[in-house]
Amino acid sequence: MAIQDVRSFATGVWIDCNEAARTIHSAITGKTIARAGNDTLDVAGMLEYAKKVGGQNLRKMNFHARAKMLKAIAQSLTEHKKALYQISFSTGATQKDHLIDIDGGIGTLFAYSSMARREMPNSDIYLDGKVERLSRNGTFLGQHVCTALQGVAIHVNAFNFPVWGMLEKLAPAFLAGVPAIVKPATATCHVTELCVRIMLDSGLLPEGTLQLVSGDLGNMLDHLTPQDIVSFTGSAETALLLRSHPRILSNATRFIAEQDSLNASILGPDAALGTVEFDLFTKEVIREMTTKAGQKCTAIRRILVPEPQLEPMIERLKSGLSEVITGDPRLETTGMGALVSQSQKQDVLKKIRLLEKDTECILGDPETFTVEGKELQDGAFIPPILLYCNDPDSAKYVHSVEAFGPVSTIMAYRDIDHASTLLNNSKGSLVASVITNDADVAREVTMNSGAFHGRLYFNNRVSMKESTGHGSPLPHMIHGGPGRAGGGEEMGGIRGVMHYMQRTGIQGSPEILSQIGRKWVPGAYEITEQDHPFTRKFGSLKIGETLATGSRQISMADIEKFAYFTGDTFYAHMDEEAAKRNPFFPGRVAHGYLLLSFAAGLFVEPNEGPVLANTGLDNLRFMKPVQAGDKINVRLTVKHKTPRNEEYGEVRWHVNILNQGNELVAEYDLLTINAR
Ligand code: NAP
Repeated sequence: MAIQDVRSFATGVWIDCNEAARTIHSAITGKTIARAGNDTLDVAGMLEYAKKVGGQNLRKMNFHARAKMLKAIAQSLTEHKKALYQISFSTGATQKDHLIDIDGGIGTLFAYSSMARREMPNSDIYLDGKVERLSRNGTFLGQHVCTALQGVAIHVNAFNFPVWGMLEKLAPAFLAGVPAIVKPATATCHVTELCVRIMLDSGLLPEGTLQLVSGDLGNMLDHLTPQDIVSFTGSAETALLLRSHPRILSNATRFIAEQDSLNASILGPDAALGTVEFDLFTKEVIREMTTKAGQKCTAIRRILVPEPQLEPMIERLKSGLSEVITGDPRLETTGMGALVSQSQKQDVLKKIRLLEKDTECILGDPETFTVEGKELQDGAFIPPILLYCNDPDSAKYVHSVEAFGPVSTIMAYRDIDHASTLLNNSKGSLVASVITNDADVAREVTMNSGAFHGRLYFNNRVSMKESTGHGSPLPHMIHGGPGRAGGGEEMGGIRGVMHYMQRTGIQGSPEILSQIGRKWVPGAYEITEQDHPFTRKFGSLKIGETLATGSRQISMADIEKFAYFTGDTFYAHMDEEAAKRNPFFPGRVAHGYLLLSFAAGLFVEPNEGPVLANTGLDNLRFMKPVQAGDKINVRLTVKHKTPRNEEYGEVRWHVNILNQGNELVAEYDLLTINAR
């Protein structure tokens, strides 16, 4: 079979390997299948090109345009995913593993696309938090804003997820408006190269936004600037080496690390043999140990069970793991494929030997294990290995050595405090799980151990049908963990985009803030138009346009009618003496909801027109009581507009309800859907 040259994509051209290239072997046959690397790559030129061409191109688009681009890329990858499945078998992955890496990666792009269009503005600036009132009269305000970093994202990725590992980092970087240079792990970079090729061939990415280094990164880090960001996934040793690079330290260049993690799962004290949770726990552990042959940063490495459940759980896991067929990942009957390479296998064997100093092996023997099939004899296969630790409190290696393969250690705990102590012994992990039907146990573990883990996953009979699995990082939830896990954080919805943006505190007048944020701020200019804003379509509404209504007097009859009509006969509206005894009211007051209803009556334009629906209210506050005899009027201002599709968009209106003394009695945002 011909040996593939895995190319790099630098400054807009594909670059071949040269003699510095490293070889890549099939995980399943051990044969050389490819090579990657070129030590003459112009790494400084790549950074410059990304900045000058890619960054500028991306920043010409706004958040929604970039989100639509992500969706289109995801669609293009979906069309080509069979080719990605095909090439991925050589990494030892099964079809089920492909669903996590390839479909999971594409799903992450789709998820980020829709989250961004829902939660980010159709603009190029992101407003973080509310307007801060910094002065008595409101003429000097503050607002935090986020704008894209003007450097390059360098993504150094691990071998285990050549597609997902790249896409979960590209989605937030591109959304922020930051171009990326991807450096996949060499062992599986042929898969990443194909994925990059599909994305570039789609023509959907603006020039300069994506480059690829197959093989070594050269001295790229020597050229970093304070506007760049390095996001690393891999071992703790490499993380330490890279994060202490002088250029990163002296420039305070952002560095995110996702590194090894001794994740654990606890069988709840309530989950005895015979309960649904006992069976569920068994399934989760077996799945986590064998998916990707245990080469998952979130895999369960430590299994914590209550003392009385130790024997039955060992029996159940041994029988379940023995049924998993390890072998050719291309076969449908195979439950677990190979490790990525012989060198990875040697590393896992070395780690098992260390772990055995604390434990005894109760299932699996990697030294004598063989798979069926002549061509697979040089593949990097090992069986599931279950270790038992009799004394987890004094164990030296069990809480600190990560065998990055299908290896896990079972141990017993006395009570939930003891379980939490063992959990935290790993000094920080990506995820810990508890399978329990006891919410008090969940609360106790959260308080004892939340500080040590990036994610806590609870599962039981209620959630099991829809739960996503201990080991699945989701685009909506953060992925990362403190301490040993690297101290990094990725994804977590729009939080992940913020890693690629600078947060800046803006201070100034309401008008300055409105103009910068493209969102009207109370106190800023108001535009008055002749015709009612409800008669005009989405596009012709101006930010700051304000309707001032006439006034309406509230009578006691109104209050009583509203009370009996709605059934809200709360004493503050009905009983003068009781209302007076309440520290907040001078006597009987109008219902807040009555004020809202009368406000709508004051500002709506009743005829059929471009306003299609009222979709809600945000930030509603009642500031001052209104009594019979008071008069209210409304100021309705266009605050913000967000196109939703070709046909309509969302308008956010700022509503002030004022009394006859021009005092604010209620304030809220009104959301409407308007025709375009
Ligand atoms: P690794 O040896 O640290 O490699 C990780 C990445 O760093 C690879 O792309 C590697 O490239 C690159 N690299 C290595 N030395 C470098 C250097 N001096 N300069 C620039 N780049 C360098 O880790 P691995 O063995 O591939 O991955 C397994 C580890 O990753 C496990 O410990 C696992 O826990 C961890 N992991 C963590 C997560 C997470 O999200 N927390 C996810 C997956 C894996 P080459 O391949 O070309 O050497």
